[in-house]
Amino acid sequence: MAACNICEKPLTLELDDDDDSNLEPQLVPDDLEVICGCHYHWQCLFDQATELAISLKCPSCDADLATNTAGPSATNPFLQSAPGAAILSRYTNEGGVQENYDILPEITEEAYLKANPEARLARAFHVMCSEGDVGGIVELLSDAEQAEEDEPTMNPAQVIRYQDPLGDSKSGLHLAVEKGQEEVAWLLLWIASTLPSDAFPRPAVQAAEAMGIQRPSSLASEDIRALADNQGRTAEAIAAQMGGLWSAMLESGALHPGT
Ligand SMILES: [Zn+2]
Ligand SMILES: [Zn+2]
Repeated sequence: MAACNICEKPLTLELDDDDDSNLEPQLVPDDLEVICGCHYHWQCLFDQATELAISLKCPSCDADLATNTAGPSATNPFLQSAPGAAILSRYTNEGGVQENYDILPEITEEAYLKANPEARLARAFHVMCSEGDVGGIVELLSDAEQAEEDEPTMNPAQVIRYQDPLGDSKSGLHLAVEKGQEEVAWLLLWIASTLPSDAFPRPAVQAAEAMGIQRPSSLASEDIRALADNQGRTAEAIAAQMGGLWSAMLESGALHPGT
């Protein structure tokens, strides 16, 4: 039976068991095999993410791990590797075996977060914008407000204006528009734009007030509508490409920077 090339322990993972009746620890497979044939625990290899994202070489045998996939891929300004690069693996875990599983996106994200730990909160915020989790956003921004001084974190104004270097420099507003999350879009405009309060639909105002969110008296930072992604597109430009759901909001000019 192969062992992990880093910690040399068997390729299993002990599950945390909340159930006290089960005294035997439950072992599940945790075997990440890369193309050179070396095996790792998922966490052991991901602990090497910083080096791996740059070298794209196997940490134990130094083989080149990057392959080029034929399919389309997002260009990644954070990573030096060519577009289309992948680190294909065979990953066996509790859920079964995944063949040709590309771990490069997750390695890249891990390397980025190791270098920029303060971005963790902002990346969680982006997931919420995509999923339409209005309550989660409000809670997260209020947590950011109360973060300890010595924690690596961002203040709410930075979180809300965060542009993802791994995701085409999109902002939360870009993602909300792209995913059709209208409630999130109004919330973000409420918090981080100069759009007059009377330009908001009644339900959006009521929701913001119910959650106790004030309009900013003045914007210390940039209006969120002015942020552009790597292709120079504002959230308004993305809404215009999508049409449909966004037609009314576009027509009212609510997404237009400066209204
Ligand atoms: Zn290991
Ligand atoms: Zn190797």
